[in-house]
Amino acid sequence: MQVEEKNNELELASRREQLKKYEAQLYQVKTNKEYDAIAQETETTKKAIDDLENAILTAEEKIESLKQTISDNEKTMVQLREDLKENGAELQEKINASSEEEKLLEQERSIVLSALNGNHISAYERIRAAKQGKAVAACNGGVCGGCFSYIPPQKVTEIKNMKRIYFCESCGRILVWDRNEE
Ligand SMILES: [Zn+2]
Repeated sequence: MQVEEKNNELELASRREQLKKYEAQLYQVKTNKEYDAIAQETETTKKAIDDLENAILTAEEKIESLKQTISDNEKTMVQLREDLKENGAELQEKINASSEEEKLLEQERSIVLSALNGNHISAYERIRAAKQGKAVAACNGGVCGGCFSYIPPQKVTEIKNMKRIYFCESCGRILVWDRNEE
């Protein structure tokens, strides 16, 4: 917009020069025909000057409004940068907290593992590797929580008693009774 305005101002100056020349020529013409021609040019140039002046005014208004928009956006940007900083700090806190939690779970895991027999551990690890990290499924509701296949009520009762380890016949996961879902 500023470049356009600059060009219009240059054009305006040149048109004004031109107008002065035409006005001077009007006094020196010899014939009516010549006079009419120059008067016509004078009118055309005046019209062009009006248009340029209007264009420059409009451009100035637009430039002002754009400057306002830029200033508003800069304020918003400052606010967003502050938010980003705060959110980043909060995120880092949460990452730290969850890595603390992960450490605790790892500790609990090694305590549980130390109480299990080796066959069960290797079965568990094998199934876990084959089933995207989920080796154990609850059978509450009479279905395997991993593959949703039907488990007969008698077997559910046996699993609930937890006398030995049961596997889902369909997906192979270790079936357990989830007391939290009881
Ligand atoms: Zn299953």
